[in-house]
This record gives sequence, C-alpha cells and structure tokens, in this order.
Amino acid sequence: MTSPASGDGLPDYAPIPPSARGVTPNEQGYYVGRVERNLYWVTDGVYQSAFLATPDGVVLFDTPPSIGHNLQRAIDEITAAEGVTNRVTHMVYSHHHDDHTGASSIFGSDVVRIGHEETRRLLLRDNNPARPVPDVTFADSYTLEVGGERVELSWRGPNHTPDNIYIHFPDHDTLMFIDVVNAGWVPIYNVNLSEDVPGYMAAPDIVLSFPWTHLICGHLGRLATRDDVLVHQQYIADIEASAREALASVNPVPYYVAGGENFWAGVKGHLNAVTERTAAPVIAKYTGVLAAADIAEFTYSTAFQIMQSLRLDRGPSGPVHP
Ligand SMILES: [Zn+2]
Repeated sequence: MTSPASGDGLPDYAPIPPSARGVTPNEQGYYVGRVERNLYWVTDGVYQSAFLATPDGVVLFDTPPSIGHNLQRAIDEITAAEGVTNRVTHMVYSHHHDDHTGASSIFGSDVVRIGHEETRRLLLRDNNPARPVPDVTFADSYTLEVGGERVELSWRGPNHTPDNIYIHFPDHDTLMFIDVVNAGWVPIYNVNLSEDVPGYMAAPDIVLSFPWTHLICGHLGRLATRDDVLVHQQYIADIEASAREALASVNPVPYYVAGGENFWAGVKGHLNAVTERTAAPVIAKYTGVLAAADIAEFTYSTAFQIMQSLRLDRGPSGPVHP
C-alpha cells in the first residue's frame, strides 16, 4: 500500500462547496435520519443505506460494509423510539457491488433477500459468503409489501452495473438509486466506475420520471434533490458537448506522424489531447459548484469514457476509407 505524503506532498484542492456538505456522524460513526414517516436513511458520511421500520419487521435497503454493524445500531435506536420490532425480515439489494452489499451476511440467513435476477447471477459468480444471493428475484419489476408499506422495484436496463435497480417508495415520496448521481459531488473515476456509459448517461432522465422529493443516491452525507440530478445531468451534458467539439477539432495526423511505427503512441497522443481539451472547460466551470470537480483525474477519466462511448457506441469512430 502507498500512503499520501504528509505536509506539502499533498496537492491543494478547492474547498468543498457548502452545498456538498452533509450530516455529521455520531461518536459511533453513523447518522440515522427520517426521510419520511417510517423510512429512514443511514450514513457514515460516505456511504448510504436505508430502512423501513414497520410493525411486522424492518426492511433494509443495502448493507455497505463501511456502515456494517452500525446498521443494526441505527435500527435499534429508531425502532426502540418508535415502539416497533428491530428484527430485519427483508433486505433489498440495489446492485451486486460489494461496497453496497458486503455487510449482508451479518443479518443472518433468516432474512428474505430480494434483488434483480442479474444481481443473483453476479453474486453467484462472485461467490462471496458475505453477500448471500437473493432468494426472491425479478426481471422487470417487483412490488414488495411488508407491514402495510409498499416498495416498487424496477429494472430499466444496465447503467452503473448491469443489475442496478430503481427502488421507489411511492408512499414516502422517495426514490433510491445508487451510484449514478452523487449529491453535490462529481462522479469519481470513469463515470463513477460504471460499466455501461450510454445507460449511465440516460439513467438520470429515468430517475426524474419517477415522482419523488428525496433521492437516496448511495454516497456522501446528504440526500439528493431533483436539482442535484439536474446539475449532474448538466455536468455530463457539458462533457458530452465538449467531447464532440474536441473530437471534431483535434487533428489526429500530427500525433500519428510523431508516433511513427508505434501506432499506439499515436493513439495515446491523439486521445490524450482530445480528453484534455474535453475536460479543461468542464473542470473550470464546475470547480466550486460540484465538490472534487478540480480533482482532474475524475473529470478527465469520465471525459475519456464519454468520449470513447461517443466514438464506439454511437459512432462514427472515424472516417470511412474512400
Ligand atoms: Zn456500485
């Protein structure tokens, strides 16, 4: 492992904008808050989970290992105050990634786990006992009813992962959708470590097609608003527009000439130039607006992914030889 150098070895970054700041976790390292009625969210400041506290049992949505055993502490705190059972009876997986599901097994085997059929397939592939596969799966949509509450699960195509689902709480004015929009922050590397770039870029429109006021987005210390989704969409749209401009305006020929017989050196020179030209105006525009916009690797690698998707998914990837 490498560690950051102390003192002046660390680069200076822009201050975190006030709009990116979140709640402060307690001494135990978690914060639990009411979203609406008996729907609660839990965060350690970086990861988010949620639960419904019903008279018939608790329904837990995601189990990030970074929150881990604090999930049950948060549940105990709320259910004791509300006078309902603290027993987790159901668990929903948003997607298969370990950083959102890796504390699943601490709730034992006497829990009904629900997830997309692709989540089951991927968890079988990954074969990690910390993340038991879902017992109940669905292909397109599933209505979960527990203790008089209703949750609508739906899959609308691949985005961050092939299995990432929309979790709608129609009676709590809330949507939970993980790892696409980071409220107040830029996506981290490579469109937030996403597998399907067109799906990732299209997902916020689907998010906004649901009725909700509160979005549980999976990361950082506050819930997202519809405005957060719009700012995220504008950031991505600005990268796309900038990438189109850069692809059209950067002349590849000098880079391939400079690379000589090393064709890949030509590719590197050309695509790096396109990526730098794409990212620079976006970094300038969003520094101070979205936290960590000035961490160049994040916007740079996201710009690279989007620029490649424009070439390879949508095309054209280059001129057709005459
Ligand atoms: Zn993920």
